[in-house]
Amino acid sequence: MKVVDTPAAVRGGSGQIRGLVPTMGYFHEGHLSLMRTARDECDQVVVSVFVNPLQFDDPADLERYPRDLDRDLALAEEAGVDVVFAPTVDVMYPRPPFARIMVDRVADEMEGRFRAGHFTGVATVVAKLFAALQPDRSYFGRKDHQQLAVIRAMAADLSFPTEVVGCPTLREPDGLALSSRNVFIDDRPAALTISRSLMAAAGAVESGERGADALEELVRDGLALDSVDYVTLASQEAATPLDEIDEPAFLAVAGRVGEVRLIDNLPVDLVDGVWTPDRGIRLSEPSGLANL
Ligand code: AMP
Repeated sequence: MKVVDTPAAVRGGSGQIRGLVPTMGYFHEGHLSLMRTARDECDQVVVSVFVNPLQFDDPADLERYPRDLDRDLALAEEAGVDVVFAPTVDVMYPRPPFARIMVDRVADEMEGRFRAGHFTGVATVVAKLFAALQPDRSYFGRKDHQQLAVIRAMAADLSFPTEVVGCPTLREPDGLALSSRNVFIDDRPAALTISRSLMAAAGAVESGERGADALEELVRDGLALDSVDYVTLASQEAATPLDEIDEPAFLAVAGRVGEVRLIDNLPVDLVDGVWTPDRGIRLSEPSGLANL
């Protein structure tokens, strides 16, 4: 008989590492980079494609969310994915769920203020995927840094045995963060003011600026959007506002260009004792994947 003090020791393991990339489909290079990272690090790569009704606060947004499973399957195959899990709504929710996962505090600010119930929907579907598919590692984009914080908190607090891996934001050559919603942008110069302002903030951080007020003002001054929901310096772990960068942080922006709501952020990490902005990865050619 063995006596152990961690769940991992109880499970033992086959030695095979399963990686999961949860997505809502309509793939672009951002999704594909998560798949390629998973391919490098895992024996089996599973990608889920599910437009999760529970996380949409606006039925019109759910209705028009772009979908193209055939194209997604071809791209996943090219990226070396082993299994695509593409369930119907009935498979995921045979009836409206009685149990939902609410993540305190981490889900309250920023997106939590502007999208009621969004993170409860995200945490619930990701918990279902973790429970049903049992990944050893799971891959999420830093593009959605608050979502990453919510999932890290949920996985840790509920003891899901998966390592949550955050991956850099993929950007078009002009800086625009890749998003399935980019197909709907009709004023690209306006949309570009988001990444341009964040890159200016990156320069300020490198020059020694640490204060939230100064960094947020710098970003706000550069934005030319139809409306701005928030510009906030927040903790990477708790996703709560910070006065200054004295722990790993992200400077987050959300706003609208026409009908399209866009979010982006600049993570700041402590690298070898130096606060270092993560500008993401720029494609050398336009992605073409999202009709841009
Ligand atoms: P979605 O299909 O939009 O739910 O996104 C699926 C995953 O891809 C999430 O973990 C996102 O954070 C990630 N993702 C979305 N856009 C990007 C991007 N431009 N770069 C890196 N990851 C991304």
